[in-house]
Amino acid sequence: MRLFILTIFTIMSFSGQAQDKVVLVIHGGAGTILKKNMTEEKEDAYEAKLKEALLAGYEALQAGKTSVEAVQAAINVMEDSPLFNAGKGAVYTNAETQEMDASIMRGQDKEAGAVAGVSTIKNPIDAAIAVMEKSDHVMLTGEGAEEFTEKQRVTIVDTSYFKSDVRLKQLKRVQDHEKAVLDHDGDDSGEFDGSENEFNVDYIEDKKFGTVGAVALDSSGNIAAGTSTGGMTNKRYNRVGDSPIIGAGTYANELVGVSCTGHGEYFIRNVVAYDVAALMEYSNMTLEEATEKVIAKQTEIGGKGGLIALDKDGNVSLPFNTAGMYRGYITESGEIVIEIYEAGI
Ligand code: ASP
Repeated sequence: MRLFILTIFTIMSFSGQAQDKVVLVIHGGAGTILKKNMTEEKEDAYEAKLKEALLAGYEALQAGKTSVEAVQAAINVMEDSPLFNAGKGAVYTNAETQEMDASIMRGQDKEAGAVAGVSTIKNPIDAAIAVMEKSDHVMLTGEGAEEFTEKQRVTIVDTSYFKSDVRLKQLKRVQDHEKAVLDHDGDDSGEFDGSENEFNVDYIEDKKFGTVGAVALDSSGNIAAGTSTGGMTNKRYNRVGDSPIIGAGTYANELVGVSCTGHGEYFIRNVVAYDVAALMEYSNMTLEEATEKVIAKQTEIGGKGGLIALDKDGNVSLPFNTAGMYRGYITESGEIVIEIYEAGI
């Protein structure tokens, strides 16, 4: 296991003190992320981008900005990078387009915003925030979401912005596999048969869930959580996962904020993000107890993935049931921890 602890701002020494509280935690997706498949170069690139995202959010918090602004700053960095399945790096749908989903929730007043199936918004988390702050709604989808957010000065780009050879190759690999699966089943009609396997193909081929997320705690003690994704490679029929669904992929209240990553269908069924908050509120569980229980429930039903959670006291928990999860956090005094492999921090 590689553990990175970088003291960026030497504001205070930790010796002999209780651990500094965490103010921002992020993830860049979970999945079959194995050290043996990783080059040092790639590993360094992920670490550098995660660090940049943490620092962007941290700087916002240091400047007295809100937890929503810190989540936005951190997620924007990852959305602008081709390394993650969100924004610039969003995966291809079956029709060789991008359909991106994002959501945000503000804990103190339980305001929330989300967009699903958007194809021209450079930073879908910005659109989710616009829905939360500027509309009477919680979720807008497709062209309607684009029309609304364009009026809110959210950056719209040409769809060519999202195109990349790497992601296209990934789609082709998945599609080849799918054809083989259909041939094997004796069904070459190419029509969706409603089976989960058809949606699962990309996970069989390339088990990485590159969604991004962030949870922040600001100087007023307010928590916000956000998630942004391109969803599943080769998805069809306007499939939407858990990421834009408040309670499933994202949730925040006065106690805790949660952002999830993994096989969305399972995260929707177990209402994962809200389940963490509910266990803390109704069963008085600690953050760690609640998050471990929720991931164990996911494992029971076969739902692969993980989550990041941050409570009002600055405790953090980052459990997952996959080989790895890109993740990191920064404390109040600027200590950064970034990890990729193995469970638990
Ligand atoms: N949860 C996302 C979805 O199912 C995928 C991911 O986390 O990478 O759309």
